[in-house]
Amino acid sequence: MRTSEIRSRFLTFFESKDHHIAESVPLISPDPSLLFTVAGMVPFIPYIVGTEEAPWPRVASVQKCIRTNDIDNVGLTTRHGTFFQMAGNFSFGDYFKEGASTMAWELLTTPVADGGYGLDGDRIWVTLWDQDEEAYNVWHRIIGLDDRRIVKLTREEIFWDTGQPGPAGPCAEIHYDRGPEFGPEAVGGTVDPGGDRYLEIWNLVFDQFLRGEGSGADYPLIKELDQKAIDTGAGVERIAYLLQGKNNMYEIDEVWPVIAMTEEITGRRYGAGERDDVQMRVIADHVRSSLMLVGDGVRPGNDGRGYVLRRIIRRAVRAMRLLGVQEATMPQLLTVSRDVMASSYPTVASDFDRISQIIYAEEEAFARTLGAGTTILDTAVRRAKDDASHTVSGQEAFQLHDTYGFPIDLTLEMAREQGVKVDEEAFRALMTEQKERARADARAKKTGHVDAQLYRDIRAEVGHDVTFLGYTETQTSATVA
Ligand code: ATP
Ligand code: MG
Ligand code: MG
Ligand code: MG
Repeated sequence: MRTSEIRSRFLTFFESKDHHIAESVPLISPDPSLLFTVAGMVPFIPYIVGTEEAPWPRVASVQKCIRTNDIDNVGLTTRHGTFFQMAGNFSFGDYFKEGASTMAWELLTTPVADGGYGLDGDRIWVTLWDQDEEAYNVWHRIIGLDDRRIVKLTREEIFWDTGQPGPAGPCAEIHYDRGPEFGPEAVGGTVDPGGDRYLEIWNLVFDQFLRGEGSGADYPLIKELDQKAIDTGAGVERIAYLLQGKNNMYEIDEVWPVIAMTEEITGRRYGAGERDDVQMRVIADHVRSSLMLVGDGVRPGNDGRGYVLRRIIRRAVRAMRLLGVQEATMPQLLTVSRDVMASSYPTVASDFDRISQIIYAEEEAFARTLGAGTTILDTAVRRAKDDASHTVSGQEAFQLHDTYGFPIDLTLEMAREQGVKVDEEAFRALMTEQKERARADARAKKTGHVDAQLYRDIRAEVGHDVTFLGYTETQTSATVA
């Protein structure tokens, strides 16, 4: 099933369940406390937290998303893109756990011929909060899911909240068992036994409680909300990779053609070796993200969104270099990505002249940066050869990274080519120091769905302060400084 079909089936299904269908909002977040739209719920935040009355009790959408906190996972896991599409259905004081769970189950398991995704219900696993009797009853007694495939997790592991007083609640996360060839079977209260066997495809957030002050998962649940909300997110690319029988989300119809083009340009074959494969997947993901970001009005720059875009374009160019290509390749790669994305997002074609000029210019600028950095690196290599260390110092590598935007793996690769080592440990220590400064006041906490962690990651990445007030203050007072 093509990705576009997965999208349209989602919307058709929820339309038939009386949902209003909303268009995707742009990747530039409509909520000023976030740089990017990181989940389908972002345009609906005021209805979920109850600061505005929702115009419809039920809505569904397929939302374009960018998640920079996943950038280092791209190409390494099977399931993380910087750009992806999140399909979601939402209820504002309308249906709750039973409605959300049974509809998700129905869409996933209804045969393809009857409009569903045709997934095997016997391979679906669900994680629930260990105190959530109501959700357990829905999944076990109403849906009939085998107890063995219901995994109960602690509040710390499965709760969603915004990191501050306001709405909070447990999730039901739906996972798919890809089979024994992808890793060990989950036993003993986990769906993460190592390996890529269990794929999280859909997160159902039950916005049930009003939470009080406190950090981490250490806050009181003050009362049940008067208006409970449902907020769900399903990964369109993840469902696509299952239904298309692929190994990961980079091999699906909307992404793969860019990998095929990298094969053509580099003369290397995807599947011949893990190192090259990772680079090809990074390229395919990043080219698509660049196309979609510039399409939505982001321009490369030195801070905020522009910096994120710049980093994504540069990582793609760098990956091409690691595959042995020095020349500009964006003109070929971007065109391919446009051709596969345009049927769903026509403006990437109609606006392609503008989009492509911005991206080609950035590729050229990076080529010049690489030129300058290479001169600095050559000096460091000469010095390393002259003294007995035969090592580029951590400080030199850090300066290359920090001042010249020279990625460490490129420094490593180029140093190796010239027969010297790099003091990577010292480099990492300096990087950690820098990151820690940026994260100084960030709490280390992970929750489901959109949360403050995503936001802090953006701040760590952007390197300066971003104030997260969107849930408690009026929208205009929320600032991205
Ligand atoms: P994971 O644990 O795999 O990182 P998540 O728990 O961070 O996923 P959610 O915040 O629950 O993801 O988002 C809802 C759904 O969106 C996920 O269940 C998944 O299907 C999809 N999704 C999340 N992040 C990505 C990504 N980076 N690329 C592709 N799909 C994603
Ligand atoms: Mg994640
Ligand atoms: Mg998860
Ligand atoms: Mg999740």
